[in-house]
Amino acid sequence: MTGRLYQQDSYLKTFQSVVTSVREEGVVLESTAFFPTGGGVEGDQGALTGDNGARFAVVETLDREGEVLHRLERPGLDVGAVVNGELDWKRRYLLMRYHTATHVLCGVMFNDYGVRVTGNRLTPEKGRVDFSFEVFDRAVLEEGFARANATIEKDLPVRISFIPAAEAEGRPELFKLESGFRHNLETLRLVDIVDFDVQADGGCHVASLKEIGKLALKKSENKGKANRRVYFELES
Ligand SMILES: [Zn+2]
Repeated sequence: MTGRLYQQDSYLKTFQSVVTSVREEGVVLESTAFFPTGGGVEGDQGALTGDNGARFAVVETLDREGEVLHRLERPGLDVGAVVNGELDWKRRYLLMRYHTATHVLCGVMFNDYGVRVTGNRLTPEKGRVDFSFEVFDRAVLEEGFARANATIEKDLPVRISFIPAAEAEGRPELFKLESGFRHNLETLRLVDIVDFDVQADGGCHVASLKEIGKLALKKSENKGKANRRVYFELES
């Protein structure tokens, strides 16, 4: 299994590793700071540089049965090659801000209004979250955004920890966000917005809420009887 450096340190921008597998689709490394697309969040881009100086742009990062696959713009790396990895940090940091923002928004909607999340899609440009309202109420949604921004203003710390998966049994509140969460893991990673919300989550987050900036509600669409698709952007 690929060592996932980003799960220990979301602020790691460069790293060194070794190519362990070369496939038609891309390369696998012994360890990586590249986050693969998952849980509704876009994967990282950046570059791998071989020890002869040849640079390979990483155009997409994907999860393939527990391995992190780096899709490169061109072939040329062999198994055993030592590479220096570098993230497109501007892009990744935006994704971190959007991801933590989504946890705050979903935490408020669930805790304060009992509104569940049924899906999300986060890019560096915008966030999209599907909420399951019993009866849609625009005022509730706007109030939810105001409360999410008030929570961000408190600048709560965000802490990462790991627990044995068995300890999470009987705690469904840990899984309210990630519908596609892999449950076949021995160890669970928890993302804890201290004194606000804890989620089982494999993704990258900012270390304190003020880094998010401010959520701005852009539009909401009707996606079936009770389902509302909500778009937001971050303003720093
Ligand atoms: Zn998440």
